[in-house]
Amino acid sequence: MEKGKMLYEGKAKKMFTTEDDNVLLIEYKNSLTAFNAQKKAEMEGKGVLNNLISSTIFKFLTENQIPNHFLEKIDDNHQTVRRVEIVPVEVVTRNITTGTLCKRLGVEEGMKLPYPLVELYFKNDELGDPIITEDHAILFKWSSKEELDQIKEITLKVNSLLSDYFKELGIILVDFKLEFGRDSEGNLILADEVSPDTCRFWDIKSGEKLDKDRFRKDLGNVLGAYEEIWKRISSRDE
Ligand code: ADP
Ligand code: UDP
Repeated sequence: MEKGKMLYEGKAKKMFTTEDDNVLLIEYKNSLTAFNAQKKAEMEGKGVLNNLISSTIFKFLTENQIPNHFLEKIDDNHQTVRRVEIVPVEVVTRNITTGTLCKRLGVEEGMKLPYPLVELYFKNDELGDPIITEDHAILFKWSSKEELDQIKEITLKVNSLLSDYFKELGIILVDFKLEFGRDSEGNLILADEVSPDTCRFWDIKSGEKLDKDRFRKDLGNVLGAYEEIWKRISSRDE
């Protein structure tokens, strides 16, 4: 796999071209950011863990017929994916109330929702990823009604699959963010990553936070939490 030119450097990953126009190489970085990158840190080992975790989860989603970009884990920090045009809408699914939902609406923390809440955010760092409705996405042509219906259907399937997957590992999937894209043939597929950077995970027994909230809230032992998630995921396939 030839590492071509860098197309983009984001907060957590770098994207490189390869000899195949339809394939990108992702490098997972050790940077951690929160609050729209106002808080930043470097954490040795994070890139390796997120690459392992996200690769394994995407493989599981492939086995469960979720169309997605993942191709292959190449080495510690790299994986190949199908290149897509990203839909500029971030899809957040919540099973339990916490985070910005509680801040924004003043609702109680830790409430189990009777059904999953799916929210849309406009993917735009300069604007701080504002929350939007379906109509914003359709009217401003970030997506279409048909595509949003498909996105919501896939998102709810992913939520159901991953909630069960993590429950077996003694973990509650509290909430998470997904990104979608269109491949060269126009197919809508799941892209980006699924990791403790993009999900909230709580230990079922102790309620301990095992995700980026440890960094956001200065709870300490951030890497230990990511290691614990990987330990449980890897124990599943033993
Ligand atoms: P950010 O842009 O939020 O700082 P990252 O550091 O994770 O995020 O950078 C990765 C970028 O690559 C994101 O903008 C994401 O939307 C984009 N991306 C993810 N998967 C693909 C893909 N298969 N093809 C093209 N772009 C992708
Ligand atoms: N999330 C994310 N990227 C973002 C915003 C949110 O991965 O740009 C994830 C976050 O990790 C959490 C869920 O989406 O699992 C809901 O996040 P929330 O809206 O509560 O915002 P946050 O507290 O992350 O700012």
